[in-house]
Amino acid sequence: MDHASRSIAFHPRRLAPEAAIGPPPVSPVEAILELLRSGERFLVCSHARPDGDAVGSMLAMGMLLKQLGKQADLVTADPIPNIHRELPGAEEIRTAQTVYGPYDAVILLECDGLERTRLLGLKQFLLVNIDHHATGREYGNLNWIDRKVASVGELVYRLVKAAGAKVTPQMATCLYTTVLTDTGGFCYGSTQASTFGFAQEMVLAGADPLLIAQKIYFTTPASKLLLLGAALSNLKQEGRLAWMWVTRQDIARAAATVEDCDGIVNFALCASGVEAAFFLHELPEQRIGVSLRSKGQINVAAIAKRLGGGGHESAAGCTMQGPLERALAVVLAELRPAVASLARNADGKSD
Ligand code: 5GP
Ligand code: MN
Repeated sequence: MDHASRSIAFHPRRLAPEAAIGPPPVSPVEAILELLRSGERFLVCSHARPDGDAVGSMLAMGMLLKQLGKQADLVTADPIPNIHRELPGAEEIRTAQTVYGPYDAVILLECDGLERTRLLGLKQFLLVNIDHHATGREYGNLNWIDRKVASVGELVYRLVKAAGAKVTPQMATCLYTTVLTDTGGFCYGSTQASTFGFAQEMVLAGADPLLIAQKIYFTTPASKLLLLGAALSNLKQEGRLAWMWVTRQDIARAAATVEDCDGIVNFALCASGVEAAFFLHELPEQRIGVSLRSKGQINVAAIAKRLGGGGHESAAGCTMQGPLERALAVVLAELRPAVASLARNADGKSD
């Protein structure tokens, strides 16, 4: 397929010269819907180590495509985390390292770069990039990046509504999960009035907020609790900055997995007086997983980007080269000045 000749691009940078004098540019929603309607077979994917927004958005997008009479393959590089395995349709998501066509297009949800998928074989296809990260980039043939929404699920919902498709209780369950998890239970800075409007619509469409919250927050395995204990025993605080880490040995001793590291960083952030926190976990091959969090005054997405990762202003991450002590020193060298400048600004204000 000659992707460059497709005429439905809405971003000026992608428009063919003749399109400049053609019909007015269409909105991202219209452009994407037109593409979905004109194709037959689609691949839907998201980032490696998929989270609630990744899984819920993929499943809802798959449901939309099926309602439109299309074929949808759902693929991620890593398995779906246990807490999301009972989402409707989750068993249909396949794990792969390389994808093979033919596909009319690939829908990439929640990926601020193609490499975030950790999937090979994507470049040959028409790419539709739907994202909300502060570090989002226009790497697709069609790009819809809305940094104001709290979850990509909300963007998928806009597509569903524009398509006139039905929001089934199953779809609502998936979409409610996207916003609940990506706002950290309606706690992060991305939470705004419209976030609750979206959540309310999903509950009215059949999502059960109690059941969903219990599956996510009240099913913690003992291995993760033990790992949390190890992390907390390594808690360090320096003024408004706090951090923790776990080694490979800590993970093995708790009989835990890397998945159990998800969310542990929040226990450092929740300390009184702490403005920014981070959590390091040792990965195989001397790689270090880094989770960065802020209560809102420090832009951790910018820091993560400088370290080769990305994310949101209040929640970001990256993977670095070890050993642990080196990664710790590098992250501290970024965060200490950021926290110190906060203190200076506060001093300035009180003068
Ligand atoms: P977490 O700390 O929960 O793993 O990730 C928090 C946020 O940072 C998520 O939005 C996630 O997409 C983003 N993030 C984490 N690791 C990376 C990374 O290696 N690269 C990029 N671009 N974003 C990341
Ligand atoms: Mn998200």
